[in-house]
Amino acid sequence: MKQSRELRFSAERTLGKLAKWLRILGFDTSFEPETDGQPYIEPGRIQLTRIRDRKKDKLPEKRIFITSDHYIEQLRQVLQSLKIEPLELCPFSRCIRCNHLIEMADKTDVLGKVPDFIWETHDVFHICRRCNKIYWPGSHTKRSLDNIQRLFDD
Ligand SMILES: [Zn+2]
Repeated sequence: MKQSRELRFSAERTLGKLAKWLRILGFDTSFEPETDGQPYIEPGRIQLTRIRDRKKDKLPEKRIFITSDHYIEQLRQVLQSLKIEPLELCPFSRCIRCNHLIEMADKTDVLGKVPDFIWETHDVFHICRRCNKIYWPGSHTKRSLDNIQRLFDD
């Protein structure tokens, strides 16, 4: 089996949906890293860009030029160019909104913070301790899993 590696990404402003999906897959992904129109390249992150020709390119191997307009194809491109395998994913482990790792939450702790019918029909909740967003398994998760499966279909 492949040695485990930590893949971290930095997505350009135009790649918001790709960034969100990389977070759904469990990858540490920063987003909107531009300041004053200049790309901010965070050390140790693989830069995802739609701009092919950038001068002063010091770390060409740390960048992936995204060709497709569609996020599933974009994801596919990232997974294929880094030869990422399904076992390297850790879906639903990270906050989609702020990129922080999420934790299990006690059902009693989320009472009043999620809709009543959700609280009554679910027993497993996760919470982001940074932005307080609460997650629970639902139809969105099912759809997400289907999408993830599609990524590895030929
Ligand atoms: Zn969060």
